[in-house]
Amino acid sequence: MSACYRVLAIEDDADMLRLLRTMLTAEGFRVDTVSDGAQALERLNYDCADLVVLDLGLPQVDGLEICRQLRQLPLPHYVYCLVITASGGRDVLLQALEAGADDFLTKPVDREELLARLRAGLRVIELERRLTRMARLDPLTGLVTRRAFQDTARKEVERAQRYGAPLSCVVLDIDYFKRINDTFGHPAGDEVLKGVAGQLAGYCRSSDICCRYGGEEFCVLLPETDESGAAALAERFRKLAASLEFPLAREPLRVTVSLGAAEYSDEVATVETLIDRADQALLVAKQSGRDRVVRYSSLCDELSLPEAEALACPLQGVTARDVMASPVATLRDTATMAQAAEFFSHYRIASAPVVDASGALAGIVSEKDLLAVMLLPDAWNRTIAEIMNPNVVTYDEGTPAKKIYDFLCRVSIRRVLITREGRPTGVVGRADLLRWFHCWLQLHGRVPASQGSPAAATTSGALSQLHQTVDALVREAATLKNNLLRDQEYLIPSLVDGASRMQELLLDVLSQSRLVHEQQPVFTI
Ligand code: GH3
Ligand code: MG
Ligand code: MG
Ligand code: MG
Repeated sequence: MSACYRVLAIEDDADMLRLLRTMLTAEGFRVDTVSDGAQALERLNYDCADLVVLDLGLPQVDGLEICRQLRQLPLPHYVYCLVITASGGRDVLLQALEAGADDFLTKPVDREELLARLRAGLRVIELERRLTRMARLDPLTGLVTRRAFQDTARKEVERAQRYGAPLSCVVLDIDYFKRINDTFGHPAGDEVLKGVAGQLAGYCRSSDICCRYGGEEFCVLLPETDESGAAALAERFRKLAASLEFPLAREPLRVTVSLGAAEYSDEVATVETLIDRADQALLVAKQSGRDRVVRYSSLCDELSLPEAEALACPLQGVTARDVMASPVATLRDTATMAQAAEFFSHYRIASAPVVDASGALAGIVSEKDLLAVMLLPDAWNRTIAEIMNPNVVTYDEGTPAKKIYDFLCRVSIRRVLITREGRPTGVVGRADLLRWFHCWLQLHGRVPASQGSPAAATTSGALSQLHQTVDALVREAATLKNNLLRDQEYLIPSLVDGASRMQELLLDVLSQSRLVHEQQPVFTI
């Protein structure tokens, strides 16, 4: 049993060192010896033994100091440390344990006692190995866990950075997996998970790193592969997954998977961002129908709309600043989850930009991000910097609104952030653009005005339109107040309903006031 363990014996007395080597080798240990402290630390750093047998009385760096430094070194595993000393005094024993020793033996060394103490050490080492294996490998699928994956992935990112080699990531999620659990039970779900994981692991090259990223979600890192290579592999695997049959019910069970692919680049910088991009692409794959592969780069493609170009484009000359809803409420990265939860319920919003001390955009955090960590110990007191998503789609205030329109037509993301000099100043969502179009069409008489006479918009222009919207807002507020006094049974639904309508009218006021501004003579102060 000892044969797979390595011992480093550290002793300045040559005879004693020889004796240790003989005793340990006879027991089957692989033994390495050094005679001073500096050499010992160098050896451990370079090629780490499992156990150390250490003489406390050494020249230059003494045994206690070696113990202390040993516990500071970033070694790949725990090193069990047995110290040997000529004096077996209580104080020395306490000092040694305090310095990081695990066990203690006095000279002259009794062979049986030495070996018995080392065997006790092996039990600790075995336990540590078992725990490490458990933390690294997912017991159901045998794939590496998310944590182990991230450690390896970080190294791959560093390699890609250093050598400029391509590196890609594919994230895979089984479609409608919950239904399998609900219909056929969790054990059947587990079989499907094992089956998909096994196929995926078999499909990857030995240099690829394949992990179970979460419940029914897998992540593969592909060194030396660009995004199109990753997407091609993803597409082949998608077809393979769809052809699998699981004999778990009367009819064999089939599944489909959705996949997102992204490639590392300088602006990606971290493995988290790379995975996040693949995840965004996966989200688009899900929202656009599942059973498909989406590439991150496709989310950023310019959309050409030739028919739309042929029309007089309402967005001609319009910038993000003109169509954005502002101001956006922001959260500081130092805010706690508790403060963020209060913030969301206060503003009744689902997500908010996060800024650093200088007010620069640092990320975005959503209600969903908060919910996902609520059950973690001490979640309320942790900062949102831990959970925010640093990868936000942003446009500068001066960006043509048409560009944002094209983007929002193309992807499943519902809104983008607008910034000025890196600070968030607004948000443009699909709803904002739709309302903007609607107001524009009303103002130009293409559709009847929603309040008052159909001709109101054309005859009295934007200002009259603005008056009508504000009147509608006042009426809505009055109704809300009446309902509050009267309608006890349906109070909450009627409040939510009224408040939502008011919110929309307020957005109209904002966009109409911009149009009024356009039509008013310019005042110079
Ligand atoms: P979508 O297509 O949007 O991904 O739908 P979905 O049903 O696959 O996704 P959802 O996130 O709603 O459900 C995932 C389910 O995976 C819920 C959870 O119970 C199940 N799950 C997670 N881990 C395991 C596991 O280890 N075994 C089994 N049997 N089920 C699991
Ligand atoms: Mg000595
Ligand atoms: Mg799923
Ligand atoms: Mg999922």
